[in-house]
Amino acid sequence: MISQKMRYLAENGSAIRAMFEEGKEMAALYGKENVYDFSLGNPNTPAPDLIRQTAIDLLEKMDPISLHGYMSNVGYEDVRDALALSLNQRFGASYDRNSLIMTVGAAGALNVALKTILDPGDEVMLQAPYFGEYNNYISNFDGVPVIISPHEEDFSLNLAEMEEKMSPKTKALILNSPNNPTGAIYPAKDLKALAELLVQKEKEFGHAIYLISDEPYREIIFGDYEVPWLPDFYDNTFVGYSYSKSLSLPGERIGYLLINPRMEDFGSVISAASVANRILGFVNAPSLFQQVVSRAAGLTSDMGVYVRNRNTLVKALSSYGYQMVEPKGAFYMFPKCPIPDDKEFCQAAKKYRILIVPGSTFRGPGYFRLAFCVSEKTVKDSLEGFEKLARDYAMI
Ligand code: PLP
Repeated sequence: MISQKMRYLAENGSAIRAMFEEGKEMAALYGKENVYDFSLGNPNTPAPDLIRQTAIDLLEKMDPISLHGYMSNVGYEDVRDALALSLNQRFGASYDRNSLIMTVGAAGALNVALKTILDPGDEVMLQAPYFGEYNNYISNFDGVPVIISPHEEDFSLNLAEMEEKMSPKTKALILNSPNNPTGAIYPAKDLKALAELLVQKEKEFGHAIYLISDEPYREIIFGDYEVPWLPDFYDNTFVGYSYSKSLSLPGERIGYLLINPRMEDFGSVISAASVANRILGFVNAPSLFQQVVSRAAGLTSDMGVYVRNRNTLVKALSSYGYQMVEPKGAFYMFPKCPIPDDKEFCQAAKKYRILIVPGSTFRGPGYFRLAFCVSEKTVKDSLEGFEKLARDYAMI
């Protein structure tokens, strides 16, 4: 008999994944080119050719016993040296390999961080709307999510509510900027204010409150925005990074967790995190792609397609009457539904073979999420459907 927790999770599966499967069925029925699947954050732009070439070179030239063998649970030393150097050059820091753990994507990084710090009943704050998987990651370690309601005018941080809801049980706060699903980027002034609040609350409660910065979209920015480096603002910071989006490698499951060396009890945190990576069953991050990404520092996929898709959609959807906060980064937008029932609206979009995800999946009811990491042709061909949908709801 399966556990009660898993029974619940299996019966209430991911709406995004369900839609992804539905998209595949619709594609088989109507032809792939006639389905406009904006459901999943699966990059459509290919990884740079250097990635493929580097993988081939490594497979041909590296000693197979080392390349395919176990290594230290935290990852290869030379890989972590190379990534520390690249972070130092980017952020003027002085990290070394001891602050970095190679992980199975950002999901692996977040689970390692949460396993390292959570006791049952500990609270983790989440600024809504947010990536729904956070609930599952927190529940993996019997933590309790505390949800902060959104500032709907710009999806900025709701610091007042955070302050109100902080309690001696608050152990962590997960931040995601550039944000999935809204495309918001939190500015330095808000992050400074948040850091001050956290320091004050740490003093008041007499224990650390960890900031877990989830940054898979760090490089995907539309315009002249800065994505501040959180360890500069707050000592007790973890940074979870992933190459899933910036290098279009989601299936390779590669990322890292940076643990700020200024973190309280740094030595015990890093050794606990290393054990967590092992006993969660990851053991270590995938070997070949550790080596590949360490040779690709500073490289990203072509971001041009995201910029063009974003601009096309913002312009067209606004002209059809959809209301939205224009995304500053990541490859998502979060427009308002014309009716309160976001599930009904997303269901109605299927009439035009448009797959979009209800905002309630992200604790943002009344909105829908559109992942525009698709081809430019898909975006252009979908517009007629979005326009008809707007007419159905008398938006134009
Ligand atoms: N965090 C956010 C905000 C995401 O959007 C995603 C994936 O879409 C992840 C984490 C997980 O990323 P990864 O594929 O690197 O595990």
